[in-house]
Amino acid sequence: MSNHFLDTKIEFLKGVGPKRAEMLRKELGIATFGQLLVYYPFRYVDKSKLYTISAIASDEAYLQLKGKITDLKTLGERRGKRLVATLKDETGEIELIWFKGIKWLASSIVIGQEYIVYGKPSKYNNRYNIAHPELDDVDQSLIANKVTLEAVYPTTDLLTRMNLNSKGIHKIQKNLIPQLGGKINETLPLELLDRLKLIGKEEAVINVHQPLNNHLLQKARHRLKFEELFYLQLNMLRQKVVKTETIKGATFNKVGKYFNQFFNENLPFELTGAQKRVLKEIRDDVGYGKHMNRLLQGDVGSGKTIVALMSILIAIDNGYQTCLMAPTEILANQHYEGITELLKGIDLKVELLTGSVKVAKRREIHEQLENGELNILIGTHALIEDKVKFQNLGFVVIDEQHRFGVQQRSKLWRKGKQFPPHVLVMTATPIPRTLAMTFYGDLDVSVIDELPPGRKDIKTIHRFDSSRLKVFGFIEEEVKKGRQIYIVYPLIKESEKMDYKDLMDGYESIIRRFPRPQYQISIVHGQMKAVDKDFEMQRFVKGETQIMVATTVIEVGVNVPNASVMVIESAERFGLSQLHQLRGRVGRGAEQSYCVLMTGNKLSADGRLRMDTMVKTNDGFEISEVDLKLRGPGDIQGTQQSGLLNLNIADLVRDGQILQYARDIAVAILKEDPNLEMEKNHRLVATLKLRFGNKVNWSRIS
Ligand code: ADP
Ligand code: MG
Repeated sequence: MSNHFLDTKIEFLKGVGPKRAEMLRKELGIATFGQLLVYYPFRYVDKSKLYTISAIASDEAYLQLKGKITDLKTLGERRGKRLVATLKDETGEIELIWFKGIKWLASSIVIGQEYIVYGKPSKYNNRYNIAHPELDDVDQSLIANKVTLEAVYPTTDLLTRMNLNSKGIHKIQKNLIPQLGGKINETLPLELLDRLKLIGKEEAVINVHQPLNNHLLQKARHRLKFEELFYLQLNMLRQKVVKTETIKGATFNKVGKYFNQFFNENLPFELTGAQKRVLKEIRDDVGYGKHMNRLLQGDVGSGKTIVALMSILIAIDNGYQTCLMAPTEILANQHYEGITELLKGIDLKVELLTGSVKVAKRREIHEQLENGELNILIGTHALIEDKVKFQNLGFVVIDEQHRFGVQQRSKLWRKGKQFPPHVLVMTATPIPRTLAMTFYGDLDVSVIDELPPGRKDIKTIHRFDSSRLKVFGFIEEEVKKGRQIYIVYPLIKESEKMDYKDLMDGYESIIRRFPRPQYQISIVHGQMKAVDKDFEMQRFVKGETQIMVATTVIEVGVNVPNASVMVIESAERFGLSQLHQLRGRVGRGAEQSYCVLMTGNKLSADGRLRMDTMVKTNDGFEISEVDLKLRGPGDIQGTQQSGLLNLNIADLVRDGQILQYARDIAVAILKEDPNLEMEKNHRLVATLKLRFGNKVNWSRIS
C-alpha cells in the first residue's frame, strides 16, 4: 500500500527547495510529504477572540490581546536582563516581558504601533504580565476573515534561521494541504469509523493542520490519537496471540500433596482477596499448556512472596523444579530463610546459591539440581550461570524485576527442557496503568492492590532541616522503645564527593548525639566493599545496632520488621518512586511506623508537591500517577530506551482514557478474530504491516 504522493521528496514542495529540505531532514527527520503531514502542531492560537486587558482574570489559558506598545525598556543585568514593554488598550495596561532575543526585539518593536499579542498571562506581585508573548502586526484581513485557529509548530534554532519558524512551517503545510484531495488512504476499517463515530483520516489530517473550527479540531485530534494508540495496542496484543500460539509451556493441571499440605498445615494467615485472585490468575495461566510470562505488581509489604511460594508448590506438585532469583545477596538470604521457615515440616529440598557459597557446596547443589533431588533453588544472578543445569525446571520467580536485563532473563528461559519455564516477575515499583498498558502490553499483569489486614499506615511527616533537634529527640524516644531507625542520605552519583561528605558529616553528628556504648550505629554506603556492607547490614538485621546510616543501597527489599522509623535526608533530591521505595523499608512489623522527610527550607513547587504527595498517601499506584505527571513518561523507570514513547500526537499522561478505550477495542477485535483473517479486518493487517513490518519482537520475551 505504498503511496506515491506521500512518498514525494519534501524539496519538491512549493516554498521548500533543496536547502531547506536538507535542514528539515536533519533537524526534524522530515524528508517526504507524508512525514510533513504527521508533523503535528503542539497547540493552536485562537485568532477568533480578542480579550481586553482588564478582562484578564486567570493565568490558565493562552489569550490574544490587541493594543499599542507605549513603552519599551531594557532592565537588569546579565541573567536578570530583560526587555519590558507596556501594552495599552482601551481598558488598561499590561507588561510584556522577554528574557531572550532582547536585542532583536528591541530594535524591531515600534513604540506607538498597534500589535496583536498572544501569550499566557502570569501573576506577579498581584498584577498580570505576559512573558515571551508572540507579537504580530495587526492584519485586518485576518480578523475580518475570521481565520480562527492557527496551528503552532515546534521548531529549532537552525530552522528558524532559514525562515522555518512556526509560521514558516505553517506556510509550507498550507502549500501541501490543498493538494491532498483523496490522496490520503483511510487506515481504519469503515465499520470501525462508523461504530466509534470517528472522522476519516484525510479530514482529520487537514483539520489538525488547518482547523475549520474548534469542534472539527477536537474530532481530528481525537481520531489521530485513537489511531496511534490503537495500532500500538493492536500490534502488541497481536504479538501476544502469536506467542501464545507458538510458545507452549508445561501444563500444571493438578494441585497435589505439597500445595495441600502447605495450605492445611503451614499457611500462617488467611490470604487477602487480592492474593487469592492473583493465585487464581496464575493457575489459569499454567493449567492449559500455554506459556506464562506474567508481571506481578504489588506495593511493598503487599505479600507477593507467599503468592510466589504457593505457585512454586503447584509446579512441584506437577513434577517440576523451581527457582527464585533476587537482585542482592541479602535479599536472596532473606527469601531463603523465610521460605525455609514457611516450609517447615514439609519434605522439600530448598537450597541457596549466591556468589559466596563455597565451591564444595556449590558442586553439591549442581549435582542435586541435575539429578532432580533439589526442588527449590533460591539465589542471586549466580542462578543463571551456564554451569547451573536443572533436570526439569518448570517455574521461575524473579523478584524486583527492573534489576535484571533482558539477556539475563532469556538465559533463564533457556534452562527449561521441553518447554521454557513459566516466568513470574515481581515488582514493588508500581507503574501507572497507562504505562503498564504500553510497555507491558504484551505481558500479563497481575496486581495485588490490598495490604494484609491490621497493617498500620506509615505516618509520614515533612520537617525542615531547622527542626533537626526535634527529630533527633523523636529518634531517641523510638530507640528507647526498642525500635530501630534508618537514616538515609542521597547519593545521586557514585562519584559525587559532596554526597559522601554530607553522609559522613551526618554520621558524625549522629554519633555525637547517640554515643557508644549506649547506642550502636551501622553505616553502609556504596564505596564500601561488598563483604563489609553485608556485615554491617547483618548487624542491623540481627538487631545489634539501633541506627542504620546509609545511602540508598538499602533501597531494595530488605526486611527488618523491628525498624519503625525511616528518616530521609535531603528528601527533595529524591524522586517520588524512590521515596516510596525507601519508605517501604519500615511498616513491616506490628508497631506504628514513621517516615520523616527532611528538606531544606526552600523547596521548588515540584519538590513541595512531592513532599505533599508522600505525606498524603501510602498508595504506590497513586504516587506513580503523580510521578508520571511530574516527570513525564520518559523518566519513569524502565521506559527510557523504549521507542514506544515516540508518539506523534497522543500523550500517555493526558490521553489515558483514549488509550484504555483503544486497547478495549483492540482486545475485542482479536477476541473475535485472533489472526485477523476476516474480510472486515483486512485494512488492519495492511496498516500493521506498513507500520510495524510483520516482525514479532522476540527481545520482549523475558
Ligand atoms: P512484598 O510484597 O513486599 O514482597 P512480603 O511478601 O514480604 O511483601 O510480605 C510482607 C509481610 O506480610 C510478610 O511478613 C508476610 O508474612 C506478611 N503477609 C503476607 N500476606 C499476608 C496475609 N494475607 N495476612 C497477613 N500477613 C501477610
Ligand atoms: Mg518482597
